[in-house]
Amino acid sequence: MIEVKNLRKSFGKLEVLKDVNAFFESGQAVIIIGPNGSGKTTLIKTILGMVVADKGEVIFNGKNIVNDFHYRKDIGYMPQIGRYPENMKIGQIVSMMKDLRKHNTDVDEELLHQYDLPSMYGKSMRTLSGGTRQKVSAALAFLFHPKVLILDEPTAGLDPLASEILKAKILKSKQEGRLILVTSHIMSEVEEMGDKLMYLFEGKINFYKTIPELKFETGEDRLGKAIAKIMKEKLHA
Ligand code: ADP
Ligand code: MG
Repeated sequence: MIEVKNLRKSFGKLEVLKDVNAFFESGQAVIIIGPNGSGKTTLIKTILGMVVADKGEVIFNGKNIVNDFHYRKDIGYMPQIGRYPENMKIGQIVSMMKDLRKHNTDVDEELLHQYDLPSMYGKSMRTLSGGTRQKVSAALAFLFHPKVLILDEPTAGLDPLASEILKAKILKSKQEGRLILVTSHIMSEVEEMGDKLMYLFEGKINFYKTIPELKFETGEDRLGKAIAKIMKEKLHA
């Protein structure tokens, strides 16, 4: 579905992505973990075409994204920090999104309703709590039944109930055959949703494996321990 090849990106002197190669398949949830500043958001934005790589390529359904920007319509993106026109109301943002995609009348409003957002349509974005803003971003990401969902730390800032709702939605979307790419710092989430785990460290993929592989190879049943063991082995290698 999506392939990244030899991706490199620097911001000034800072090398943020250092030759990243990976393949992401439909019907899977891939969780990208790694310390703050390791390049997770930059990798995601490169796939989205919001950051242009210095080297390498992004292939979406067999096509290089450089030649065709239309692939974006197949992606639902939930940014780490959602930025909106602050004086617009929630309802206006939702209708604006629908308007931009008029040809797409089959909308998925499940999250909008589960988060009870229609009752807040009159509130302006400026007045929203961080969590409500996240709910808006999540609902918008799923609105057009995208084939791919890219969610950047989606549950950060959500209350426990809202997190559960989102995780259930992610699992359902995965079962429907979509590709889900999520960044997270929360191990329990990785266990609950993830099929594959990518560990990004200082702009390089440290490992990219299925959860069963990770547990089998380390002999650890707890994912946190399995990861710690791999990291330790790498340090001493
Ligand atoms: P992560 O999402 O893993 O926390 P990011 O991809 O956001 O990491 O950032 C990786 C590094 O790149 C950080 O040091 C960050 O400050 C830097 N960076 C990200 N975007 C920019 C930018 N537009 N200009 C300059 N530096 C950036
Ligand atoms: Mg980030």
